[in-house]
Amino acid sequence: MISLPLAIGWVRGDIASGSLLAVWIKLAVVLGCTSAIPLLLMSMQARRWRLRVHEVENFVSALPATVPELSPGGPAELQQLSHTLRAMSLRVRQGVERASRESSRREAILSCIAEGVLAVDSDLKIIFCNDAFATAFSARTPVSEGRTLYEVVREPTLRDILQRVLRTRSAEMDRLQLPTAGKKWFEARALPLNSEAKQAAVLVLHDITDLHNQEQLRKDFVADVSHELRTPLSAIRGYAETLLEGALEDKDNNRRFVEIILSHSVRLANIASDLLVLSELDADASFPASPERLSVPELVQSAIYSVENAAAQRKVKLNSERCQECYVLGLRFRLEQALVNLLDNAVKFNRPEGKVCVECAPEPSGRVRIVVSDNGIGIPSGDVKRIFERFYRVDKARSRPTGGTGLGLPIVKEVIERMGGTVTVESALGQGSKFIILLSPA
Ligand code: ADP
Repeated sequence: MISLPLAIGWVRGDIASGSLLAVWIKLAVVLGCTSAIPLLLMSMQARRWRLRVHEVENFVSALPATVPELSPGGPAELQQLSHTLRAMSLRVRQGVERASRESSRREAILSCIAEGVLAVDSDLKIIFCNDAFATAFSARTPVSEGRTLYEVVREPTLRDILQRVLRTRSAEMDRLQLPTAGKKWFEARALPLNSEAKQAAVLVLHDITDLHNQEQLRKDFVADVSHELRTPLSAIRGYAETLLEGALEDKDNNRRFVEIILSHSVRLANIASDLLVLSELDADASFPASPERLSVPELVQSAIYSVENAAAQRKVKLNSERCQECYVLGLRFRLEQALVNLLDNAVKFNRPEGKVCVECAPEPSGRVRIVVSDNGIGIPSGDVKRIFERFYRVDKARSRPTGGTGLGLPIVKEVIERMGGTVTVESALGQGSKFIILLSPA
């Protein structure tokens, strides 16, 4: 617009002089100049936009790893867009940081828990495997993501569980014994991972060796109890039936049969009371809340009173002269019961004119030592390590007539261990046995 009056002013002289060529040339120059300036301006503006857009592009592609600075200025529209992008990028970055914090926390927890944890995808490729799981299978740790399950676990039961879970999309559970992990028993629980876009499953391996062994012990114990009860019960029933079927009138045998019934019922009563003691000991698993200060020689003396008659009948001599004053903490009736059981055995498994000796004294180490020794039949070396097991008897036939239950020594062991002490045995077949108790002093 400004160029038009300028151009007219410039060519006016040439029009007047009739120089048309000069007019055309000047008009062409004016036109050229007026159109070049906006083009130049536009190209400068376009360059600014291009640079800014390129900057925004770099900004977006660097997300979410870093949030680079966006330089201020530039076209207003792009400034607004940069502002919005920057606010959004900060939110994205916070979200990513939160998610990665959460994931490393979860990974740290899973890595240090005792249970083995394994996650696999639908091709049974490992997504996650903690050290506990790898150790159970003697695999090298850490187990890297992407390895196939087969490379780490050769156990078909686990593969089957995981395949079933991936197929049925429902939880599965199984028990298995791993030869690779010292024959330990495990409970494997597997669940589908629903949140994953691709199908996946997670498996948790729980070490139940202790539980399994306890269950086994309980089963064995019930079987042993039934077996122990069956013998006296069938003897009582058999002799009672014989008496009813006419032996009552048999003057030569009827008394003997009743005596046999009596001895078996005594045995049944002994088993019942020993089982009760053991179950009481099992129930109060801890040391008594208020233990008494017990004088050991006093307890030895009262235990000796309990076996005096049996010893006199078998002509076994009891000696407690080498008992020095010493004290321990515990329950009076329990420790006395343990001493009676040891003395009873020392008398029972002895010979006529045999000797039983009880000694007690504080040791140089400060502990209290109680020794019950006899010069009786002794215990074969192969049986020594088993005699504290429930119902274990070296010679069942010999133990039964004496009313033995095979629970006397297990009771001794339980009582002494509950008091924080130990009981051991030294024995030589045909020469005698020595039971040594060590307890903390009071
Ligand atoms: P029992 O009721 O048979 O005496 P225990 O548990 O007290 O049961 O003892 C287990 C077994 O250990 C006995 O049957 C016996 O064979 C052996 N035993 C225990 N004490 C002695 C001992 N002093 N001398 C020889 N054998 C013993």
